[in-house]
Amino acid sequence: MTTMYNSLCMKGCIRTLEKCPVCKKTFALSRHPVSKDVIYIHCEICQTHPKFVYIDARDMGAGKIYTDQHGHKFDSFGVAHRQIEAMRRDHDEKKFDPSQWAPGMRKIYSIEESCSQWITFLKATVSYSHFSHCKGPMDNHVKSILAQLKVTDVRDLRTIHVDAVYVALLSGGFEKKTVRNYMQAFHQYCQYWFDRDVLVKMPKFPEVTVPEKFKPWIPVEKQILILGQVPDDYDNRLLIETFFQGGHRPSELIAHRKKDLQEGEMVVHQSFDAKGCLKPPKANRIKRRSVSLSLFSRLLKHCEGKSPEDFIFTRDGGRHYSYDAFYHLWTNAAEAAGVKIPPVAGARRSKVSQVREELEKELKEKLQDVLEHDSDAYKAYARDRSEKI
Ligand SMILES: [Zn+2]
Repeated sequence: MTTMYNSLCMKGCIRTLEKCPVCKKTFALSRHPVSKDVIYIHCEICQTHPKFVYIDARDMGAGKIYTDQHGHKFDSFGVAHRQIEAMRRDHDEKKFDPSQWAPGMRKIYSIEESCSQWITFLKATVSYSHFSHCKGPMDNHVKSILAQLKVTDVRDLRTIHVDAVYVALLSGGFEKKTVRNYMQAFHQYCQYWFDRDVLVKMPKFPEVTVPEKFKPWIPVEKQILILGQVPDDYDNRLLIETFFQGGHRPSELIAHRKKDLQEGEMVVHQSFDAKGCLKPPKANRIKRRSVSLSLFSRLLKHCEGKSPEDFIFTRDGGRHYSYDAFYHLWTNAAEAAGVKIPPVAGARRSKVSQVREELEKELKEKLQDVLEHDSDAYKAYARDRSEKI
């Protein structure tokens, strides 16, 4: 021990809160004759020493430290002295980080605490959907895997842990796409702490590739052919044209009312089930289908004189289309045009309308982030603006 004294700084000090159990006097701090470092704490008269000591590291910005890094009290002078020497060495090498040593500060960087701090930050700064895509995976999956790996501190995260989380998720029976989303959330958490200099090195994340789902489409030339085969009576043509562009399920398409035409989009409030009864849309989520501006204005014009609750597409005598009616209309026209595609497998839009929908979705998300609102608030904002002009 003594050889270290001349080479290390003498910051920090070992002390005790106790008094001699026999004479009740303060324990004496024996100091090294040269370095003046405290090298022993005892009562010279009674030959007793304290049960516990602590490190006074206030001059290193780490406060008073009562436990080692595992949370154990310093029950011998030797243990405390080894820790203070390690701290001094860090200090001399200019890599002293108080939070690395002080247990109270370590808590901030526990996986639990660091995760909740990051989540709080997200909640205040990003869109709700972004926030929930991060919170769920971390809270419900990644955190428990890290606990199994015995990783308790964000600063300890290394590539090897990232790999282990990845493997655990893959073998957990999740879909590849889900694993990718979870790993993205985990990556953002690490990035957050790396950007704040808490995580010293950003771990490497695997590239998770998910096979793109093939979205079939009908080329515009074929759409024109099919439309040419649709009987011109009732609202047939307009119905099929909207089907091409909107990407609706047939059951949603035929259930549209005038009031669903909003802000250049068709809001899906309900759909018909197989028995012809109205029900809420799939998964109870209100969706918006986009169509081109020219089609939208024709739909508006078509609905002139209708009341908000009236169906947009009607046939003989103003009845709405039944699923069967739509099915026959479609199948007959498609077959006559030489295109064999059943409508039930989902809407078959043109490639152009698919691309447009994706771009609009992207734009909407960007706008939401800018406005820090959810989708409804975004709508309200857009309306407010137009009313002011
Ligand atoms: Zn004593």
